[in-house]
Amino acid sequence: MTKETEIVCPPEQHNDEATLKQLAASALNIPLKNINALKILKRSIDARGRKVLYRMQVRVFVQEELKPEVFTVNYPNVQFGRPVIIVGAGPAGLFAALQCVELGLKPVVIERGKDVKQRRRDLANINKQGLVNPESNYCFGEGGAGTYSDGKLYTRSTKRGDVNQVLKMFVAHGADEDILVDARPHIGTNKLPQIITAMRETVLNAGGEILFDTKVTELLVEFGKIKGVKTASGEKMTADAVILATGHSARDVFEMLHRQNILIEAKPFALGVRIEHPQEIIDRAQYHCDVRGPYLPPSYYSLVEQVDDRGVFSFCMCPGGIIAPCATEPDEIVVNGWSPSKRNNPYANSGTVVQINLEDIPGSDTDPFKMLNFQKEIERAAFVAGGGNLVAPAQRMVDFVQNRLSNDLPANSYLPGTKSIELKNVLPQRVNERLRKALPVFGKKMKGYYTNEAILVGVESRTSSPVKIPRDRETLQHPQVAGLFPCGEGAGYAGGIISAAIDGINCVLAAKKILS
Ligand code: FAD
Repeated sequence: MTKETEIVCPPEQHNDEATLKQLAASALNIPLKNINALKILKRSIDARGRKVLYRMQVRVFVQEELKPEVFTVNYPNVQFGRPVIIVGAGPAGLFAALQCVELGLKPVVIERGKDVKQRRRDLANINKQGLVNPESNYCFGEGGAGTYSDGKLYTRSTKRGDVNQVLKMFVAHGADEDILVDARPHIGTNKLPQIITAMRETVLNAGGEILFDTKVTELLVEFGKIKGVKTASGEKMTADAVILATGHSARDVFEMLHRQNILIEAKPFALGVRIEHPQEIIDRAQYHCDVRGPYLPPSYYSLVEQVDDRGVFSFCMCPGGIIAPCATEPDEIVVNGWSPSKRNNPYANSGTVVQINLEDIPGSDTDPFKMLNFQKEIERAAFVAGGGNLVAPAQRMVDFVQNRLSNDLPANSYLPGTKSIELKNVLPQRVNERLRKALPVFGKKMKGYYTNEAILVGVESRTSSPVKIPRDRETLQHPQVAGLFPCGEGAGYAGGIISAAIDGINCVLAAKKILS
């Protein structure tokens, strides 16, 4: 027989099976000797009180053996299946490919960037020399923006689909089983590339195709129906279903659609800065201690405040992380963050952004490029302010709020370098003023947060897509082009790895209906 219960223990005991069994025995009021095994179902850290605790929901095996779950994928050969063209090998594209195979369809994945291994060299050039390859960078290449990311695997929305299905697929391809139980699962930049490689192998072994260094430059459409795609080399590939999962940074894809008279729309997004603190400040605040104990992970935070009718919020928080240069063109600055699996860097960073709506920006709302052009303008201004080579404009936190140039900047994790400037010269006033008001309030919510030891690095501008590619709510097809499935973050239907993966799966389920 099995029973479920919650157990609570101090951090130093959370990995001690004997203690956990004892706690479960007393919670269920059964003899300890009757418990054969425990399976943790959910695990979280409760830091609300003075004492930090681990909370676990466990399944208790009473006089019954625990049979370990095996996570493998066993797929049919789809070499001769109906082809589905998937443009983009980010989380949306990769999970779409895996779902195709599961349904007996043949995925043909077309990716403009390089495979994960070759991509590394281009990332080194970005970090060490400030050189951006527009086809291979933190956003473009195998695994998309998700590969060299933090790999946080939680989503605010669970309505979109089966989060567990996605997590289990990560485990089947090498992720630690902890991601299935942790309240805030995380993989880490160092582990993601092997997992993405394993996913590629699953697709190829099943008879799917993946093409790197291949950019889609035209959609082939006849009488309102998709017929395939054309690539930069002029090659044409045919299929009755095309999943367009090109991410929020493929500006040329939005231009391609517009050129082909395929409807796209301007979309609100959020803009701001990346804020970095020494991790120990965040630990002290969250764990109410002088020094974080060895059994606790580097702590995170999530902050939000309504300022002048707009949300100002922290986003993509990376404990023990690094601020990454995520531009896709050589003359722009875009920052984001990542962390290794151990989260053992001495800094904590998060995007801290302000929502920007269509009415905030001058020009007609029917101009699909209105928000994208505004985003581009800010990124270029940041580049100019930094002085080139991806040096990012930056300011200390209190100096920023008090409108004062920082005399110097604290040591930080952004490798191409930072330059002290007044960020108000780069940020739009509506963003600047709301951030100035929000940061001291965040400081009241979290002790130690509001400090000149923290640095603001500009600009965090690729929080979500500034363009939406419309689609029918039921069929997920573009209203003007049957068989075209706008998918993932770039089209406006996802906001992270998990939601992009789920959207990829959903698009294939919808494609299957028109192909059978
Ligand atoms: P993308 O991942 O952007 O993939 C799109 C792919 O399409 C790219 O590989 C691109 O090269 C390809 N492509 C574009 N145009 C073409 C074309 N014309 N032809 C062929 N291929 C093309 N999210 C989280 O949930 N957790 C995190 O911890 C996290 N951390 C992040 C850290 C960083 C540094 C970055 C940059 C992002 C992070 N994100 C995180 C966001 C997450 O990575 C994205 O939400 C997710 O990758 C979106 O998936 P996608 O498949 O829709 O698009």
